[in-house]
Amino acid sequence: MNIEWEKLGFEFMPTRSNIRFHYANGAWDEGKLCNDYNVTMSVAANVLHYGQAIFEGLKAFRCKDGKIRVFRPEENGKRMCDSAKRLMMPEFPVENFVEAVKRVVADNADYVPPYGTGGSLYIRPVMFGTSPQIGVNASFEYEFVIMVMPVGAYYKGGIKPVDAMVERKYDRAAPHGTGTIKAAGNYAASLLPYHTAKHEYHCPISLFLDPATHTYVDEFNTSNFLAVTKDGKYVTSLSDSILPSVTNKSLMQVAQDLGMPAERRKIKLEEVYEFAEIAACGTAVVLTPVGRLLDNGKFFDFGLTEIGPQLKKLYDRLTGIQYGEVEDTHNWMVEVPEK
Ligand SMILES: *Cc1c(COP(=O)(O)O)cnc(C)c1O
Repeated sequence: MNIEWEKLGFEFMPTRSNIRFHYANGAWDEGKLCNDYNVTMSVAANVLHYGQAIFEGLKAFRCKDGKIRVFRPEENGKRMCDSAKRLMMPEFPVENFVEAVKRVVADNADYVPPYGTGGSLYIRPVMFGTSPQIGVNASFEYEFVIMVMPVGAYYKGGIKPVDAMVERKYDRAAPHGTGTIKAAGNYAASLLPYHTAKHEYHCPISLFLDPATHTYVDEFNTSNFLAVTKDGKYVTSLSDSILPSVTNKSLMQVAQDLGMPAERRKIKLEEVYEFAEIAACGTAVVLTPVGRLLDNGKFFDFGLTEIGPQLKKLYDRLTGIQYGEVEDTHNWMVEVPEK
């Protein structure tokens, strides 16, 4: 193994093992660590036709004291159960989810980037229906796999604000659809809007509006929307078609810990132009500040060339907790004992 930690990006890389569980006859098996990255299933497998597939994303960190800790795995375990229920897939119990994460991270401990490199071990659980069938029904067999891979600091040379575009042509999710769960199909549907925004308008992220009225701000392609108001309040969207981000929930708590009032409420698009700082948030990057917002051919400039001062405070505090530099007062970090 010869990894150049400083050069890591956010890309797939096989590691020593992934962990796999199989569901059949109404129960999950004990699971096993596996070196192979391939799966064998029928071309009639449910997932290939009817799309029973859900996933998660979380991270493990090599902390300042040398220990490995995972950030809030129960939250991802709970969210995966919610996703499973919505797609009629079997729930994988939260305690078992956390145990499985610890097992696969421990087996790949030497792939966790060293403290100080800005990297982390990205953990990607995925579950899909495998039984061969042609009628539209829930699968009766499932595979649940957790793979892990080292990833680098997302922003080398500091966080820079990006351009975002208000998406006017496509919706990310339907009202009362599957926008609140991490279903694979949502991401297939987002590829064309993503590609168009990026290549035609040079905006790496798109801001989606509520699909029923197109009046309120929902979220970005793969990250939640958050803002700091001119009077120093944290605000984030309330909507029944967005994915409940663990990062957003955590940043909201961190804001309150720092004495910044925080609220989740409906946000009209016009209001966005009144905010001091706006950003996208998610596990992969924590925070991506938005410097300019494009809507109907016109850019609105928030006038920031660097991450804004309020968002910077939130970012530093949360990443400080993750790397064990700031006291973890909410017990978010789960230690992974090494073998
Ligand atoms: C995964 C995801 C997020 C971010 O969630 P985190 O738990 O913070 O990683 C936000 N929006 C969408 C659509 C997502 O898929």
